[in-house]
Amino acid sequence: MSEIRTNPFTGEMTLYAENRKNRPYEFVHKTQSKNTNNENCPFCGGHETWTTDAVYQDGPDGAWQMRVFPNMFPAVKEDCADIEGESFYETIAGRGRHEVLVDTPDHNETIDKFSVERIAKVLQVLQDRLNHFRAKSHTQYVQIFKNCGPSAGMSVRHSHWQVTGLPIVPRRASVMADTMQGEDCLFCKMLTYEKEQKKRVAAETEHFMAITPYAGRFPYELWLAPKAHQRDFGDMNDVERADLAQLLWDMLQKVTKLKEDVGYNICVMDGPRNRDFHWHIEILPRIGGFAGFEYATDCFICMVSPERAAAYYRGENTEV
Ligand SMILES: [Zn+2]
Ligand SMILES: [Zn+2]
Repeated sequence: MSEIRTNPFTGEMTLYAENRKNRPYEFVHKTQSKNTNNENCPFCGGHETWTTDAVYQDGPDGAWQMRVFPNMFPAVKEDCADIEGESFYETIAGRGRHEVLVDTPDHNETIDKFSVERIAKVLQVLQDRLNHFRAKSHTQYVQIFKNCGPSAGMSVRHSHWQVTGLPIVPRRASVMADTMQGEDCLFCKMLTYEKEQKKRVAAETEHFMAITPYAGRFPYELWLAPKAHQRDFGDMNDVERADLAQLLWDMLQKVTKLKEDVGYNICVMDGPRNRDFHWHIEILPRIGGFAGFEYATDCFICMVSPERAAAYYRGENTEV
């Protein structure tokens, strides 16, 4: 069963995917983060037959750097049956695609240890997968994300990304898109403002800016965005990709020094089908936790101001 139901009061959506409860979970306790055992890991080089067939692999079995295959426990499925709805409520079958990109054959290597060139290659393969997903008629929105560390939702220690093609546009992406249409793009205006103000600029390259967003939800939250208005992550060219890879590498060196074995998510926010957008990457470190307040109010309590976080990323204060 894969079904997306809408909360009639708030418009929030919940994706029901009962098969996901069967997936392996490597971390018995959230503090048990350093697991060097790879005997049971389906993502390790040499274990190719343990996963679904690869749709992309950049070398022979046992000798690749990157490998993409359909998720063995997908949240959405291409062959998902129609849902028998109820008259009172809004629902839709979870018809879509869910892939895993394993970006290293090494069980214990993390992305912050990759070279800049390797990060650029990962970004390129993610762009290719996004464009492939977009070609599917039922895909309204593509979410690319990476969970690093058990506190950030990682269930298998081995470094990987996930790409999900959804039949709906999640509320957050839809609300953001409303502000990003054409010449009135609020994101473009924000980048201009932040460049003048400087206090929330973490780093800047020729084509990209890294800022700590004015009302970010997470301590040390970081957004990496193209300076020029660009709708789609898939549109980034070779020069821009090399530029972003360097910036992402630089920022990950700082993120991973926030605390030992820090958890974080990397999310590529991209435009819904047929709508303008200003794509960007959100890096969400997990320093604190969520509690009842956040779930009840949708208002996050954040213990570090974005201005202080930007100073940390600029190297002006090292105290976390
Ligand atoms: Zn592994
Ligand atoms: Zn824009």
